[in-house]
Amino acid sequence: MRPSTSGRTCCPSEGSRVGVFPRPLFVLSGAAGVTCCLCILPERFARDSSICDMFFTWRFVSTLRVTDVLNDSYAWPLLVYMGASCVYPLASSCAHTFSSMSRNARHICYFLDYGAVNFFSLGSAIAYSAYVFPDALVNTVFHEYYVALAVLNTSISTGLSCYSRFLEVQKPRLCKMLRVLAFAYPYTWDSLPIFSRLFLFPGESAQNEATLYHQKHMAMTLLASFLYSAHLPERLAPGRFDYIGHSHQLFHVCVILATHMQMEAILLDKTLRKEWLLAHSRPLLFSQIAGAILLCLIFSLSNIVYFSAALYRIPEPELHKKET
Ligand SMILES: [Zn+2]
Repeated sequence: MRPSTSGRTCCPSEGSRVGVFPRPLFVLSGAAGVTCCLCILPERFARDSSICDMFFTWRFVSTLRVTDVLNDSYAWPLLVYMGASCVYPLASSCAHTFSSMSRNARHICYFLDYGAVNFFSLGSAIAYSAYVFPDALVNTVFHEYYVALAVLNTSISTGLSCYSRFLEVQKPRLCKMLRVLAFAYPYTWDSLPIFSRLFLFPGESAQNEATLYHQKHMAMTLLASFLYSAHLPERLAPGRFDYIGHSHQLFHVCVILATHMQMEAILLDKTLRKEWLLAHSRPLLFSQIAGAILLCLIFSLSNIVYFSAALYRIPEPELHKKET
């Protein structure tokens, strides 16, 4: 098992980027140039992610200030979700910032990025369980085990996405497939209540103003996935989108917009369905929420530590041979 050491994986963010940049932004000679020419784009992603992180943090803090955290248990899932929405842009920002430091630092930064994305996925599941489930599925077996399985998904997804980095050179197609799968299936699981609400129970009381935001969130996520997989538009005009309009830049914009839509939808559902949910649904207990977060952190960090340790088992001479 060997992670990517090739210079072709220029900006090794959430996706395999083999062959994305037909020419480097700034070419320096020698082995160092392989890394140095790749620094510009990650730095811009880092800056953009930092700005988005500030926006989500501002919204989180604003909500915290108007919430009676100790006594308003109905608001706890929202706070967890909003807290998680601040973590993943920050992790992404750090990953892009430090991705040019060294091979191992680059991989470990992205392992942490994958862990943060999965933590956000769990935060979404907790909020969906509390506010978004359609009337017909509230208090069913599916509802009861929904968050528990979301915790399990975070562990599998983090492991799968970290492992995919070890296949970038030898099996790039499998690497891409595994990484897309690693993020698509927890998203699909999380979104089952939304799909049910939109397509199976369209006449329910759960249909409210939030539904439109749920639809926009899904559309934006699909667009982000398309840009991530297709590497457009730079594939059509190589070199013209190095600064603005690169697919990975557009992917980040779409993901942030999708999170914004999702947050609006959750806030609307929380407000508009409060009376019905408090009367008919069993709210998540503090111990259930804290237990889910703790297990997610333990599973994700175990995966990250395991795969980070695997990086150091690779002999250094081989790395130099490959990177030059
Ligand atoms: Zn990225």
